[in-house]
Amino acid sequence: MIYFDNAATTYPKPPQVIRAVDEAMQKYGANPGRAGHTMSMETAEELYRCRTAVAEFFHAPGPECVVFTLNCTQAINFVLKGVLKSGDHVVTSNLEHNAVMRPLQALQKRGVTYTEAQVVPGDNDATVDAFRKALRANTKLIVCTHVSNVWGIRLPIERLAALGHEYGVPIAVDCAQSAGVLPVDMQEFQFDYLCVAAHKGLYAPMGTGILITPHGASMETLMEGGTGTASISLEQPETMPDRLESGTINIPGIAGIRAGISFVKSKGIERIYRHELGLIQALYRSLSKMEGVQLYTPEPVEPYFAPVLSFNIKEANSEAVAQRLNAAGIAVRAGLHCAPRAHESFGTLQQGAVRVCPSAFNNMNEIRAFSNTVMKIHRK
Ligand code: PMP
Repeated sequence: MIYFDNAATTYPKPPQVIRAVDEAMQKYGANPGRAGHTMSMETAEELYRCRTAVAEFFHAPGPECVVFTLNCTQAINFVLKGVLKSGDHVVTSNLEHNAVMRPLQALQKRGVTYTEAQVVPGDNDATVDAFRKALRANTKLIVCTHVSNVWGIRLPIERLAALGHEYGVPIAVDCAQSAGVLPVDMQEFQFDYLCVAAHKGLYAPMGTGILITPHGASMETLMEGGTGTASISLEQPETMPDRLESGTINIPGIAGIRAGISFVKSKGIERIYRHELGLIQALYRSLSKMEGVQLYTPEPVEPYFAPVLSFNIKEANSEAVAQRLNAAGIAVRAGLHCAPRAHESFGTLQQGAVRVCPSAFNNMNEIRAFSNTVMKIHRK
């Protein structure tokens, strides 16, 4: 199988991640922070090592700012529902995943409003300007993706964070597609909330996500429960990360995050990005020569794009094309990719699109095989 569905979750996982998960199952089998026996304490130590590794990787203010979640969706929900109140306004973009749009839609019923700023691919000044114009006196948050999971378009999030701070508006960034592929530095970029899908660019197991924020103590909680700390009180603790991390935690998955970060660091983020973008650029050039193949964005170049590319063959339904690719042993995702607004902006709401996203494990031969298969499907 040629696997190009890495925007959904990366596959394969590096051997060191698989080993770390296996080791955690064997060595760290007791609930951390819940008991004084040796294995519980060793597990707590491993959890702390993982938290520290995440904090260092993203330059978070400290390990206590790192909250382990189920996925990126849960991290985004924690932020939006933990920060916004009736009467608040939010600025987001027209390229968001439903992980952002559905919580915002739900929050509308609680009196929160939002405005979508239009991203202009290849023109960061125009994009920042659109966000500036969307700000209002009651804007309490900017929330946007770092990279569109459909079009690979990269938002100028450093500049959007600076814009927010100029107006006293915090920023939450959905780094589902960028963490592990692009540099994400909380301190340098001045992010308030960082949401990560660890099972993608960090190569951790599915069911792992991360929220990083220095503002956790003042957030409303979406989930309350046992933390193993301050148990006499029925109130959720204000200390972080306990405030946002109730119940038994996914230790094998979290150990996988630490190993995934080591893998990314050993390869080098810059090298991973150049490798994957090089594959996507080669694919773009090859598809752009095929009559009847519709590409929707300009050529994916630095610094405006990340390695995700979507296209269509003539009027063909994208799901049908994905089925044909599957029959040829190639895994891609078609349809709307949980991002209907991003499709609407490019006129593909009906047809959807066929999405290709490589990982560090893909190579140029696979891109050639993919192009040849598209050519065959297109000719039939
Ligand atoms: N945001 C974006 C941009 C995504 O691509 C995805 C996953 N497709 C998510 C959020 C949700 O991530 P998760 O599946 O980890 O909840």
